[in-house]
Amino acid sequence: MVSRTDFMHALENDIKPAFGTSAEALDHLLMRGIINWGRPVAEILSDGNLYIQEARASEGSGLVSVLLEGPPNSGKTALAAQIAKNSDFPFVKVCSPADMVGFTETAKCLSIRKIFDDAYRSQLSCILVDNIERLLDYGPIGPRYSNLTLQALLVLLKTEPPRGRKLLILCTTSRRQVLDDMEMLSAFSTILHVPNLSTPDHLLAVLEEVDLFTKEEMASLHAKLQGKRIFIGIRKLLCLIDMTRQVEPSYRVTKFLCKLEDEGGLE
Ligand code: ATP
Ligand code: MG
Repeated sequence: MVSRTDFMHALENDIKPAFGTSAEALDHLLMRGIINWGRPVAEILSDGNLYIQEARASEGSGLVSVLLEGPPNSGKTALAAQIAKNSDFPFVKVCSPADMVGFTETAKCLSIRKIFDDAYRSQLSCILVDNIERLLDYGPIGPRYSNLTLQALLVLLKTEPPRGRKLLILCTTSRRQVLDDMEMLSAFSTILHVPNLSTPDHLLAVLEEVDLFTKEEMASLHAKLQGKRIFIGIRKLLCLIDMTRQVEPSYRVTKFLCKLEDEGGLE
């Protein structure tokens, strides 16, 4: 016989909310996977696990909000998506400015609000707010932004979910300073910095993973990169690697280094 307890248990644990287990949305953000190029990556993911546990903990407030900030192309969105995926929370929703192109301020606020309302109805939820400065309509020329959206987000970032419910909020930005100016930083429980690759070892770790250069070419790159300074985001680097694949093999190492220098990624 199915008792009320069984029914409630199923409701809480087995029934996936119709409004989106956004597994596909996450997989899309993670299409190229996560390459463990160095300590920062491992550290961000292990910190991520701590925040997941904290959000889950029964004694906590039920709300943990994390800001992943770092330079453009450093991999913020993918890392946030990986943390969301690691949480294994049944309700995961991505809130991205791309989904709200052309929305009025009010429409934007309402749809953000809806995502949070849906999350409050689930036992364990994770919301990924991608590119938060873009969501706020921030533009660097003659700085302007949507105050309505800012106020809405500030409230939502601080609102604890109903009793017994847990919510993990992951936001990304490449404009930490702008969020600071908007007095938004203090609304987060924690801030994680997502850095660019900065040493030859970081770069070589990525190259080892992508199967582009031969052993000999790797050795020659290793020698050529000795003592150099690297500064490039993982996403830029992966683009450069894709481009280099199109180049005739004998010319690849030269071309790669040349492009890396052009991008300002090599000193
Ligand atoms: P933007 O500044 O434009 O928002 P971003 O910092 O959010 O960019 P992503 O969109 O996350 O960067 O792009 C990172 C890309 O690199 C993704 O395709 C991801 O799969 C891939 N990637 C590989 N390894 C890593 C890693 N260690 N960390 C993050 N992303 C990685
Ligand atoms: Mg991003």
